[in-house]
Amino acid sequence: MAGVSLRHLYKSYSKNGPLVVKDVSLDIEDGEFMVFVGPSGCGKSTTLRMVAGLERVSQGEIYIGGELVNHVPPKKRDIAMVFQNYALYPNMSVFENMAFGLRLRKTEKHQIESAVKQNARTLEIEHLLERKPRQLSGGQRQRVALGRAIVRHPKAFLMDEPLSNLDARLRVQMRTEIIELHRRLDTTMIYVTHDQTEAMTMGTRICIMKDGIIQQVGVPEDVYMKP
Ligand code: ADP
Ligand code: ADP
Repeated sequence: MAGVSLRHLYKSYSKNGPLVVKDVSLDIEDGEFMVFVGPSGCGKSTTLRMVAGLERVSQGEIYIGGELVNHVPPKKRDIAMVFQNYALYPNMSVFENMAFGLRLRKTEKHQIESAVKQNARTLEIEHLLERKPRQLSGGQRQRVALGRAIVRHPKAFLMDEPLSNLDARLRVQMRTEIIELHRRLDTTMIYVTHDQTEAMTMGTRICIMKDGIIQQVGVPEDVYMKP
């Protein structure tokens, strides 16, 4: 079975409220870089948050690595989430920020140390490990946020507009870095953006949503986007 499978997903935020996700079905294979793109309010974040377990599923099923996860709490899902507002702990060093998820899972100290160092090297933030988030640039903070996610070797990375708070130059640079990271880690990525250029340059496949529905799914060359 695919890395992440969505089966006839529906979401309404209240009992008689509107359906903001309607009959969404999609298989995301291991190692894919799937980008959800579409206008603001079309249901991308809601879909991603259901995969993360941060929103309840109204109807349908979500499978991660073949396991039905509808009732599995976020911490027990083998995923990592990267948000747009880095969400680093301000009073912890970069090292502690990266180690946090592993500590929670009672990983042994020497394993934490080597995992953090190795991944810090991958992201070229090894020299920043003792700093606090406020002593970092926007791009460095974004890298630490990525580092926090990758140290756990999750089955899938979920990213919700992770670059939207960065200036244009940095955004383009981080795009390349995330594409490179995906190649190096050989992992599944599910990425949400409203930016068509970002979608076309980053995704190995693109899922275009509109009004809660999947309009098209395909490789960048094959999907058609209205300008
Ligand atoms: P997108 O990520 O594509 O911008 P969202 O998934 O955030 O879209 O939102 C889809 C729809 O659900 C929108 O109409 C939005 O207003 C609504 N919505 C999102 N979050 C909530 C919430 N917590 N409570 C009620 N409605 C929400
Ligand atoms: P992980 O990196 O494993 O996904 P998180 O960083 O998302 O872990 O947070 C793990 C838990 O710590 C969450 O339940 C979260 O609510 C809690 N938490 C949030 N903010 C802080 C904070 N400033 N210090 C300590 N724990 C926090």
